[in-house]
Amino acid sequence: MSVMAVKSVLFLFSLSLLGFIQYLFADNVHADPDKTIEKRLSMVEEQIAGRGIKDRRVLDAMLKIPRHLFVDSSLKERAYGDHPLPIGEGQTISQPYVVAWMTEALNLKPSDRVLEIGTGSGYQAAVLAEIVSQVYTVEIRKGLKETADKLLDKLGYKNIKTKYGDGYYGWEEYAPFDAIIITASANHIPPPLIKQLKEGGRLIIPLGSTLYYQTLSLVTKNNKELNVEQMGGVAFVPMTGEVKRK
Ligand code: SAH
Repeated sequence: MSVMAVKSVLFLFSLSLLGFIQYLFADNVHADPDKTIEKRLSMVEEQIAGRGIKDRRVLDAMLKIPRHLFVDSSLKERAYGDHPLPIGEGQTISQPYVVAWMTEALNLKPSDRVLEIGTGSGYQAAVLAEIVSQVYTVEIRKGLKETADKLLDKLGYKNIKTKYGDGYYGWEEYAPFDAIIITASANHIPPPLIKQLKEGGRLIIPLGSTLYYQTLSLVTKNNKELNVEQMGGVAFVPMTGEVKRK
């Protein structure tokens, strides 16, 4: 075993005993020519845990999910890098740290039902699906929705429902949600999403009208009042559709 592998196994052990045992006995450890498991371990260790993310369920989900399958095969070498990557149609899969940061901030419980706006590659939906009971995700670009569907199906996710449509309107049929995550930027929070958030629920959104900088905002709904906490700067692709007309 290389030094890297020993270091990685030690790190995994510190995360969870079960994860360690699964790692040792997993068949794919021995059939991983691209060393994607090692790349995931260093991604989680350096970019995620190293920057202060502590939620074990978030760390475990990101250790498990083959992020390289969520980008075009020509980009797989860069899939575990500390940056967003293009996923076609001018859209991007978020930087791993941003995915972890947003997911942790939602303070999710295993029984939660979560709505995502902006399926994109499906990676964020997969992270959520490892943590909560049911994920609903809406994508406005048909091509991206269909590609994400195929991959999520291939990976065996049974608790993700996808929809082609404008996420401005949420997904009324399955509302209310315990948490809502919007992975595209907007200059306001779409009112239907606030309505579809449960009392006590949390919503996270990159708020701002400029292209390269928005404020990641965490909204909590309590007694019908909204409490907004500004978490920091991010750069997301803009939400399109109805939000632009308001
Ligand atoms: N969460 C994604 C990345 C999102 S990129 C992932 O894990 O890969 C932002 C996505 O939001 C793009 O796919 C874009 O098409 C989608 N989007 C933009 N406006 C939208 C809207 N009004 N409703 C639903 N999806 C939207």
